[in-house]
Amino acid sequence: MYSKPADSVADLPLAGEARELLRSCVHCGFCLPACPTYRITGSELDSPRGRIYLIKEMLEHGRATATARTHLDRCLTCRACETACPSGVQYGRLADLGRELIEHEPPSSRDPATRFVRFALAKVATRRELFTPLVRIGQALRPALPGALKVLLPARAEGRSTTRDMLAWPTARHARRMTVLEGCVQPGLAPQINAAAARVLDQLGISLVAARDVGCCGAMAHHLGRTDAALDQVRRNVEASERLLDGGCEAIVSTASGCGTFAKDYGHVLRHADASISAAGARVSAATRDLCEVVDPVALERAVTAVRKQREPVRIAWQAPCSLQHGQRSSTTGKVEALLRAAGCELVATRNPTLCCGSAGTYSILQPELARELRTRKLDSLRGDEPTAIATANIGCLEHLRQASPVPVRHWIEIVDSILFA
Ligand code: SF4
Ligand code: SF4
Repeated sequence: MYSKPADSVADLPLAGEARELLRSCVHCGFCLPACPTYRITGSELDSPRGRIYLIKEMLEHGRATATARTHLDRCLTCRACETACPSGVQYGRLADLGRELIEHEPPSSRDPATRFVRFALAKVATRRELFTPLVRIGQALRPALPGALKVLLPARAEGRSTTRDMLAWPTARHARRMTVLEGCVQPGLAPQINAAAARVLDQLGISLVAARDVGCCGAMAHHLGRTDAALDQVRRNVEASERLLDGGCEAIVSTASGCGTFAKDYGHVLRHADASISAAGARVSAATRDLCEVVDPVALERAVTAVRKQREPVRIAWQAPCSLQHGQRSSTTGKVEALLRAAGCELVATRNPTLCCGSAGTYSILQPELARELRTRKLDSLRGDEPTAIATANIGCLEHLRQASPVPVRHWIEIVDSILFA
């Protein structure tokens, strides 16, 4: 697809990049059936091809229209279209550039309520030192909250009826060490996930070290089009992660696949930065692993066999987050399923495994109707074979599905942890 950027944007680096990315689209439409929003609305403008045309128009006219903004805002950035595209169009990168173009518009181009919500998400949800205390206050007031607010808050891990401390973190004792991304919302909503990862890896001979200086990965600000804020977060994380790698950590582990996907792209995100930070970004990207890439299924099966008592296998429906199946694709495909089987779980059949659940970072807050419709469809497809629990690998999907699921929704490492240590 050929395009000529308008003079007003031609000097922006993003114009040249968008023009190159647009070239590979041949308008064939093979991506349309894979697109969750197109499947719901049936509108070409809510399809990848339609959005690509809208980005092309923005580039050529040098300004965003309300139509382009509406339909790009409705995109989940799930990247199912990339997996379906035979021409290798990098839609996710193109959509990011389109959003950056939109954010060049004056602030008044969005209504005040939407601007406030986007601002609050970028300022509060990305800072765990603010977000975690707010969640704790909400949890303390939970009994008095109205039902609609109550469902948004998970119960506190410490408060659950349990025979063990779900937040217990083993002392580092192994020569093999890895660090784990703390992130922004996960420590507040589900601190037990990283603790479970630390216990399982400890059992397999790897000490997991919490990276306290590493904050929000930057994906939220990036996808909200707040490029400068995202770059600040990425730079800070890259510098902190480099110190950990220099100190002997062999990998940076992510237990939230959305964050891991973005961290694996730090080298690209910092491509216009000065040479030293850009090289450091590439080094951190290369050292980043999703948790499923560092747990060895053979060692896990051996560990489970050593402790297993006689019991029925747990029936699990696996929900592959889009960030794993489309974002990280070849490096993670089939890995969590293999690990759950190695732990003795029975995986039930699910329909539409590529369908997005509607969480998509801040999407479920900014586009609640589409997000709810996608969640209903996803839960129907996951529950068809009557699982006892749903497993996922991303905090956003977990929280979004949990709020409407009649069966527990858990990170897969929590399930493995409960089998090993219950
Ligand atoms: S993005 Fe790919 S699949 Fe979709 S219209 Fe363009 S070339 Fe075809
Ligand atoms: S990223 Fe997802 S929602 Fe957006 S155009 Fe592609 S398939 Fe559709």
